Amino acid sequence: MNVLVTGGAGYIGSHTCVALLEAGHSVVIADNFSNSRRDTVERIERLGGRSVKLVEGDVADERTVRELFEQNAIDGVIHFAGLKSVPESVAQPLRYYRNNVFSTVLLAAACIEHGVGKFVFSSSATVYGSNDVPYREEMELRTPTSPYGSTKLASERILTETAASAPGFAVTLLRYFNPIGAHPSGLIGDDPNGVPNNLMPYITRVARGKLEKLKVYGNDYPTPDGTGVRDYIHVCDLAEGHIAALEHARPGTQVYNLGSGSGVSVLELVEAFERVNGVKIPYEFAPRRPGDLPAYYADASRAERELGWSAKRGVDEMVRDAWNFERNL
Ligand code: NAD
Ligand code: UDP
Repeated sequence: MNVLVTGGAGYIGSHTCVALLEAGHSVVIADNFSNSRRDTVERIERLGGRSVKLVEGDVADERTVRELFEQNAIDGVIHFAGLKSVPESVAQPLRYYRNNVFSTVLLAAACIEHGVGKFVFSSSATVYGSNDVPYREEMELRTPTSPYGSTKLASERILTETAASAPGFAVTLLRYFNPIGAHPSGLIGDDPNGVPNNLMPYITRVARGKLEKLKVYGNDYPTPDGTGVRDYIHVCDLAEGHIAALEHARPGTQVYNLGSGSGVSVLELVEAFERVNGVKIPYEFAPRRPGDLPAYYADASRAERELGWSAKRGVDEMVRDAWNFERNL
């Protein structure tokens, strides 16, 4: 397949491009580098052993999307491009709707116009809102707690309704849990701009001495050690989930949780990082972060049953590879 990967230079997109190349697919990356670097594309080519086509541009721009589809024979789309900071989305909701939802509308419309039958979308566990755990795909979704979450829910609906109206159009909604880690080569990984919001890149920067200490947000949650529990998944496992989704695409809309299926607390992740990497992470407890849920994790059995996919790499591998990438920066 010739796969259009929007946001292919980003954290999850870059690992997925490598996995696509390794699986024998061709790749067209469309990225505006608003949150990534051009040299990541060369690294993808090095790791994947083949070249990719790069189109620098904004996939929320109608002309860019039209030209992408006119100039390339595309068989499937994986739509990663988007903005992903929850607090930023609260401050700039329209920027988030434009980037994340308008891009989805334009790309879906171009697929229908050009007869492109496969569309894989980067959704998030945030669409479950506050729900019982583990999260299951058939649960009723709750109103998201941020504009970011609303853009994911809106994109899911737009794609589902489009698939219902267009025979042959195969939409796969992938709800990611918490991707961490990096490619074992240390060449690609998560390197957010500014001070990280997310736990793992914050930990690696503390380990490196770039930040003084970790703030653990909340130690009075109803969890075994009082700290927040999440379902961490190695980014390479997540990348492989996209190949499985593309290869099993069928008309209509399919929805899959991509998670490991088990919960890990903040302190457990810190402990694993220290033990595996032999580095101390100074931390202090701080108040709960507004909007954070105590604990959630995936029921990932549908992906295993229908896609033959499950997460293979454990927490030790995740923290090892995250640290290897940070030391390589
Ligand atoms: P990222 O910021 O590393 O990657 C996104 C990429 O898209 C970047 O390369 C950025 O430059 C590009 N981009 C953004 N807007 C664009 C536009 N309008 N046109 C072209 N390129 C654009 O983020 P990521 O962690 O790789 O996330 C990828 C997708 O997965 C996002 O849609 C995100 O919302 C979703 N997601 C991420 C997580 C997570 O924890 N990382 C969890 C759930 C869902
Ligand atoms: N967290 C923390 N300190 C940080 C960043 C995150 O204690 O500097 C906690 C957060 O409260 C949550 C978990 O780590 O329990 C994962 O947070 P992250 O932002 O990585 O992902 P989220 O699940 O919130 O999308």
